[in-house]
Amino acid sequence: MTGSPQGRSSAEAEVVTLTSELIRIDTTNTGDPDTLVGERKAAEYVAEKLAEVGYETTYVESGAKGRGNVIARLPGSEPSRGALLVHGHLDVVPADPSEWSVHPLSGVVQDGYVWGRGAVDMKDMVAMSLAVARRFKRDNVVPRRDIVFAFLADEEAGSLQGAQWLVDNRPELFEGATEAISEVGGFSITVADGTRAYLIQTAEKGIRWLTLRVRGTAGHGSMVHRDNAVTKLAAAVARLGEHRFPIVLTDSVREFMAGVTELTGVEFPEDDLEGAVGKLGGLARMIGATLRDTANPTMLTAGYKANVIPSVAEAAVDCRVLPGREESFERELAEILGPDIEREWVSLPTVETSFSGALVDHMANSITAEDPGAKLLPYMLSGGTDAKSFQKLGMRCFGFAPLRLPSDLDFSALFHGVDERVPVDALEFGTRVLDRFLRNC
Ligand SMILES: [Zn+2]
Repeated sequence: MTGSPQGRSSAEAEVVTLTSELIRIDTTNTGDPDTLVGERKAAEYVAEKLAEVGYETTYVESGAKGRGNVIARLPGSEPSRGALLVHGHLDVVPADPSEWSVHPLSGVVQDGYVWGRGAVDMKDMVAMSLAVARRFKRDNVVPRRDIVFAFLADEEAGSLQGAQWLVDNRPELFEGATEAISEVGGFSITVADGTRAYLIQTAEKGIRWLTLRVRGTAGHGSMVHRDNAVTKLAAAVARLGEHRFPIVLTDSVREFMAGVTELTGVEFPEDDLEGAVGKLGGLARMIGATLRDTANPTMLTAGYKANVIPSVAEAAVDCRVLPGREESFERELAEILGPDIEREWVSLPTVETSFSGALVDHMANSITAEDPGAKLLPYMLSGGTDAKSFQKLGMRCFGFAPLRLPSDLDFSALFHGVDERVPVDALEFGTRVLDRFLRNC
């Protein structure tokens, strides 16, 4: 069995190399398809690693050249229990080498870490899944459920040419899948008395990428002018940017807080929730963002010359909405902006499932087999993942990419951050947990 003191499995032995090699394939996704580099190459790499041990793989370009996705299925002994989807995206966000201590595409192993863009988001999980998939095939391990492995393009730009395209156009690839695991969860935090808690993602806020537009009258910058689009837009953006949406406690956040209270004695009083959350160290930003809807203005566009008043001004606002708040959010937005501001948005749904059931029990068992005494807590991600797409096929979606992390590592800061890196022993730990989990769940 894995995790035994007799020695490392073949999956543990190769997970670090797989992570490094994946990081070295540049899969930067700027959101502009013309700048695409290596998504196809990464998909081909994964397909080759699977084929090498005997998998039949399906390679699909999701609606655009080079947006490579790879899907493989491992039949289980109890197919009636529904398949489990294990999915990971191959693309990464850009990184500026001048800001880093090592080159972000080096995948170098140094000081006990694998360094590079994608080390935690999410070539680590891709490598762990790949390592376990390969081991199962090599050792003729038959899991209980069918397992569908999916390695996907374009997550970092909203998945329109990745998971979302596949769900809309090739749903048969995920036939029979009732549950899914992927990023962003399964990592540990160390609570007051040294106990580790592993955060399992059970929910995600929804996304509204909002464009605001104001039309006014064009004119000469030297004149008295009462209908200035820039002035009106700037006022609306300031109102929205300063607005505080109400605190709403969803089930996942409530359960997270109850769990922290149980483990640490820290209370979350109704009248000072944000104060209490603020004391959670590196987690404060992450959990704080799941207490209420947010609307952060991110881009402004207007005008072309200092002495010309433009007729149109536009702003982009990144809005994140809690499950169940969609209608209230829209009402509140309309009140803040008033009738003269045109609004358009790209909308991606919220995700929410319960922290219960056999799959959660299997997560707990496979974690505690490797880290006795550890606890599991549910939490809501303020960002978004491919779970938004797979939920449409009726799957329960979880963030479960297990990593046992050093207590002093500011993990959430590594996502899209400078010097992104993942501990070597966390990768090996995660591989053991995933191995146990996937064969038994
Ligand atoms: Zn990611």
